[in-house]
Amino acid sequence: MEFPIFKTKIKGLKKKFNLNDPKERREYFNLKAGKEIKKLRDFLKKGNTFIAYLLGKKNSGKGTYAKMFAEIVWSEKIEHFSIGDMVREIDKEIEDKKRQKELIEFLKKYYRGRLSLKEIISSLKNRSTKELLPTDLILALIKREISKKEKKALFIDGFPRDLDQINFSLFFRDLIDYREDPDIFVLINVPESVIDERIKWRRICPLCQTSRNLKLLPTSKIGYDKKTGEFYLICDNPRCQGARMVKKEGDELGIRPIKKRLKMEERLIKEAISLYGIPKIFLRNSVPQKLAKKYIDDYEITPEYYYEIKDGKIEIKERPWIILDDQGRKSYSLLPPPVVVSLIKQFTKVLNL
Ligand SMILES: [Zn+2]
Repeated sequence: MEFPIFKTKIKGLKKKFNLNDPKERREYFNLKAGKEIKKLRDFLKKGNTFIAYLLGKKNSGKGTYAKMFAEIVWSEKIEHFSIGDMVREIDKEIEDKKRQKELIEFLKKYYRGRLSLKEIISSLKNRSTKELLPTDLILALIKREISKKEKKALFIDGFPRDLDQINFSLFFRDLIDYREDPDIFVLINVPESVIDERIKWRRICPLCQTSRNLKLLPTSKIGYDKKTGEFYLICDNPRCQGARMVKKEGDELGIRPIKKRLKMEERLIKEAISLYGIPKIFLRNSVPQKLAKKYIDDYEITPEYYYEIKDGKIEIKERPWIILDDQGRKSYSLLPPPVVVSLIKQFTKVLNL
């Protein structure tokens, strides 16, 4: 499965940007996709919306791309709708007697499917996190969530989740009363080696749950543990008062425990590509090293961070991060902004703006 490489390099444009800096990032987007951003804003200003389904493997950056797109284009008019977050919220609702009653009232009215109300409640209550909720229930719950809010352009994250759900996605906009709005598949391709490293080096703040990466996305302060000889991240959130970020159990295994799921997600993407009648956007995270010069600028590449102690002080250092893509080629992984530039440009094309 090979996605086209998107060219974000503009001939003659020499300026470099620090893409981690919000101000410079804005300037970068204006230079590389200003015209398209304006077109999208005009489209939204007229009261139009869209539904975009994010399809990519676990940890492929779906949420990151959608949120950055919204931040750059118009955050009040665009929502990243995560099915995972919705289900977690419903878990809380089930525990609260009063809120549970509202949920039951809704389901009585709108749920159609094979489960009795009693079965639904008990499956919500006793569900292990790995178990999926039945599609008919998920659909009813999404409808409820969306009807509660004002109408916005949506990035749906986590649906369709399997081959059975893909057919539902084709009629989904009817179900949530978005019938006239364009719908789009946004397909994301990230090498498994990138996903593997993202998991292995992931660190979480035990207090605020913020997630960073020791190798790819460090915090501004780094600590050193003399006992273990390891460097660690220190949470940037002032409320956490210098909390040491930690590894989650099992993360050191990388993608090994989720291989089966990744395979299934790959089949899902292939299936989506083969469908007619629904426009598709192709997002690609990696660029073969050999082609990089032609397509991208150096500052658009994800660096690898490492640490050294000099005169008792910890220094954060940077070097190019080279990975093997799924075809075994030495490649670079792109930072989110260039991928979002390609998302913005393909979006205007698909919407005929
Ligand atoms: Zn924190």
